Amino acid sequence: MAFEGLAERLQATFDKMKGRGKVSEADVKEMMREVRLALLEADVNFKVVKKFVNDVKERAVGQEVMKSLTPGQQVIKVVNEELTKLMGEEQSKIALAQKPPTVVMMVGLQGAGKTTTTGKLANFLRKKNNRKPLMAAADIYRPAAIDQLETLGKQLSMPVFSLGDQVNPVDIATGAVNQAKEEHHDYVLIDTAGRLHVDEDLMGELQRIKEAVQPDEILLVVDAMTGQDAVNVAESFNEQLDLTGIVLTKLDGDTRGGAALSVKAVTGTPIKFAGMGEKIDQLEPFHPERMASRILG
Ligand code: GDP
Repeated sequence: MAFEGLAERLQATFDKMKGRGKVSEADVKEMMREVRLALLEADVNFKVVKKFVNDVKERAVGQEVMKSLTPGQQVIKVVNEELTKLMGEEQSKIALAQKPPTVVMMVGLQGAGKTTTTGKLANFLRKKNNRKPLMAAADIYRPAAIDQLETLGKQLSMPVFSLGDQVNPVDIATGAVNQAKEEHHDYVLIDTAGRLHVDEDLMGELQRIKEAVQPDEILLVVDAMTGQDAVNVAESFNEQLDLTGIVLTKLDGDTRGGAALSVKAVTGTPIKFAGMGEKIDQLEPFHPERMASRILG
């Protein structure tokens, strides 16, 4: 299960605090030393850990906490609040264009789960407002990516816009947006190409698509299992494309949690959705508070 190691360690640390009548500054420091180690071991970015620990300490050694009737519990509450803040505070919703269709560009490296997530998001949006999004197959390089999206479309009984793999992805994207306008779709989800690594060609193509379709959302799909690599990938994509949101996939796996806990703080981009499995309905809006509570037990 995701976050298992981190959750266990934090809970063990907090159990020691819970029953205490009195909590000294030294107790808080000792506890935060353990929290720091647990976060680093969970592959959370070291700068993020440093700031987090300082923020908690600053609030936890304050008069209010120390003099309260249950100081141990209060410190834990502070940790919970700061953990929530780290992941973005509130649930961040998908943008809506003033005039439909809302254009969403799906970007990410190969294997992150981009095509699957495009189908999942189409399914999620249809459930929410009972309208069919148009999916567009603009990944012309990965063999079978177009087939994969078309299969998802059939499975969901949703339209997929495709011009094959011999047409410029920019033309595919603009063609899809035009069709979405004509057919009154309220969303168009563009599945763009991924590569094994971030490279100039990939970014150049994505920038040209962005320029051509002026998306309302650019969602980066990253694999939570890759920890700090996911955060580095998010930083590069954000620098080049100015992302509006992140989808963390494979949170159902045994990720240590580093990506979920650092990516918002490092990039300033909110996590909007979490992939919780391979099935089409296993996409959930990302709730920072629920995630923090899950980690703290
Ligand atoms: P793309 O290259 O980024 O388009 O990646 P795909 O959409 O083809 O996904 C790569 C693999 O990851 C597939 O086997 C998916 O079923 C799997 N996958 C995607 N999202 C999730 C998720 O949230 N959880 C799990 N366990 N697997 C996922």
